[in-house]
Amino acid sequence: MITAMESKQAVDVLVVGAGLAGLLAASQLQTAGHVVQVVEKGRGVGGRLATWRLGPGRGDYGAQFFTVREPQFQAIVDEWLELGLAFEWSRGWAAGSAADDPANDGKDDGFPRYAITGGMTAVAKHLAAHLTVHTQTKLTQIQVAGDGWEVVAEDGRTFTARALLLTPPVPQSLALLDAGEVPLTASDRAALERIEYAPCLSGLFWVAGGVALPAPGAVQQPEQAISWLADNQQKGISPEVAIVTAHANPVQSKLWYEAPKGELVGLFMGGLRPYLSKTSVIKGHHIHRWRYALPLVTHPERTLLADGLPPLTFAGDAFNGPRVEGAALSGLAAADALLNHL
Ligand SMILES: Cc1cc2nc3c(=O)[nH]c(=O)nc-3n(C[C@H](O)[C@H](O)[C@H](O)COP(=O)(O)OP(=O)(O)OC[C@H]3O[C@@H](n4cnc5c(N)ncnc54)[C@H](O)[C@@H]3O)c2cc1C
Repeated sequence: MITAMESKQAVDVLVVGAGLAGLLAASQLQTAGHVVQVVEKGRGVGGRLATWRLGPGRGDYGAQFFTVREPQFQAIVDEWLELGLAFEWSRGWAAGSAADDPANDGKDDGFPRYAITGGMTAVAKHLAAHLTVHTQTKLTQIQVAGDGWEVVAEDGRTFTARALLLTPPVPQSLALLDAGEVPLTASDRAALERIEYAPCLSGLFWVAGGVALPAPGAVQQPEQAISWLADNQQKGISPEVAIVTAHANPVQSKLWYEAPKGELVGLFMGGLRPYLSKTSVIKGHHIHRWRYALPLVTHPERTLLADGLPPLTFAGDAFNGPRVEGAALSGLAAADALLNHL
């Protein structure tokens, strides 16, 4: 990975965003023989595949697990399973995530829920290992430069590329293009502006003295203010201590989005308290606000190749699949679309 000030060089494809969509797209383009670089605003890779160290433990505070519907993604997950990178966590949760099977309280609906050994970020690190990724590189502007692209980072660095692949949440990609006055066609703009996301407030709590979340360590209860609770120790990614992940449901996340973090701790504790013993102690916490957590309105195709501009594709979970799997398949589709134009 690259973090320091590198010299400006033109690449074939600049991928914006080192989440799953961007990393898989970059790998595919690089394997096809193109010179690819990835720029990422965060300190590390993964985007919404996010794991946080808390005391001696860790917890996933973005995506919690993933499912597989398509053979193309199954092949990728099979590889991760073989490497020991992914594991099957469960086939359902207590408290109703698979409510159509009351006989087992929803704990087994037959569909594997996978997680990543050591936490979700580990799979992003694995994918990034053979790529050139400029972390801590927040883009502020994208502009057309001849028959290619120039992008500008917050610290003044510029990157030039023949083609661009954008994976940030779509409103953020649009803001970058607007800052550089990129003339999207009216129909591309309308398609992109239709995409909407729900926010999610997420908390991690280091609990000493006992957490009683039912096996396999999570409850999913969409109608409750705190709609997801998971014990990362039972999940197997925090062997030393119990780190509990709590997510507020979309309605509460919107309502409480701007509330101070101290108040959010109170909100989360309301959901967590029934699973704690009288002697449990909260030893630390981490609160995160995801403004663009889950796409509510998605684009009907896996990618969008912009019309009338140098090669530019959009990818991510807002493109025909609002989940980890959707992000993966969208990244691969966007890479394919660019391969036809390079
Ligand atoms: C709280 C939460 C819980 C979830 N739970 C699940 C779940 O259990 N199962 C499931 O399947 N899915 C879940 N998801 C959704 C899943 O995490 C996403 O679908 C998937 O990770 C999206 O990947 P992506 O590559 O499309 O986007 P992202 O991971 O968001 O990647 C986009 C990247 O672009 C970067 N970026 C943005 N702007 C700029 C800029 N200006 N310059 C440079 N870089 C920039 C971002 O930092 C980010 O790394 C959850 C999401 C959240 C937030």
